[in-house]
Amino acid sequence: GLTKHFPIKGGFPIRRTVGAVQAVDGLDFQVAEGESLGLVGESGCGKSTTGRLITRLLEPTGGKVTYRGQDITHANRKQLAPIRSEIQMIFQDPYASLNPRQTVGKIISGPMEINDINPEGGREKRVRELLEIVGLNPEHYNRFPHEFSGGQRQRIGVARALALEPKLIVADEPVSALDVSIQAQVVNLLQKVQKELGIAFVFIAHDLAIVRHFSQRVAVMYLGKIVEIADRDDLYNNPRHPYTRALLSAVPEATVDAEPRERIRLAGDVPSPINPPSGCRFRTRCWKAMEKCASEAPPLVQVDGNKPGHLTACHYPEATESVPAPRLSKDP
Ligand code: SF4
Ligand code: MG
Repeated sequence: GLTKHFPIKGGFPIRRTVGAVQAVDGLDFQVAEGESLGLVGESGCGKSTTGRLITRLLEPTGGKVTYRGQDITHANRKQLAPIRSEIQMIFQDPYASLNPRQTVGKIISGPMEINDINPEGGREKRVRELLEIVGLNPEHYNRFPHEFSGGQRQRIGVARALALEPKLIVADEPVSALDVSIQAQVVNLLQKVQKELGIAFVFIAHDLAIVRHFSQRVAVMYLGKIVEIADRDDLYNNPRHPYTRALLSAVPEATVDAEPRERIRLAGDVPSPINPPSGCRFRTRCWKAMEKCASEAPPLVQVDGNKPGHLTACHYPEATESVPAPRLSKDP
């Protein structure tokens, strides 16, 4: 039931709450230990807000966040302290998230300093180890962020996130600011650390191709709601929600053997999250919308023909026919 509504203030002379941006509205999902979940949707659908709610950088206005059985929804700073080190975030813009006046060594050891881990000489050794894990030269310990390329900077961000041996990493569009040629390298690195270190990941992206490469399960979001969630192959081979199908049709085919898929072009823009459509929020752009779609919000459930764990929020799900799966554009 995870919910975040941002109040909108207005009015004169007395300012009051005149509405709310319904950024995230009643999400239910879990991430297992060591699992990677892809969270996908167009910009403004609430993916980043969801990431910040999970990591408790934001406090929800409704619903609950539990971490290893512990309710952390309204935990304060002190209560969160022991969990903070276990949950880390990687941000979209590797340059903006690194302090340009600090050396790489200082940046990566920052979380260790804050949490008083590996004091004295231990920290430098650990930083060199981390640099090696993320594929950077340990001798570059004393360099500054501007001396690195975009891809290398994101590797620094990954090393910093790994410093405290987290159990869960929320990666918010970690490659979308990077050159396409570099994206696959960084995704491969994340996949390597996820597998080898057994870290659970929530990988936020607007690109279904990249999430396919990385995630065991995928959740598709639209206007603050999850519209479909399934094991990766179920979602890509048997998408039941019209929106999922539209998103999949937009993934460019990179291989010659895959049948070109008919591109579904969605009419209009994403409506405002201040006044989302009644019933199904996707109905203003859905080619299958009926009366019921305006009056009743479709619940996220297992629909006929789907495997357990494959949930779809649609009154009239798409037929269960196979569509060709997209591939990651190109491994370097
Ligand atoms: Fe389209 Fe109706 Fe399904 Fe929503 S519930 S996706 S409007 S068919
Ligand atoms: Mg975002």
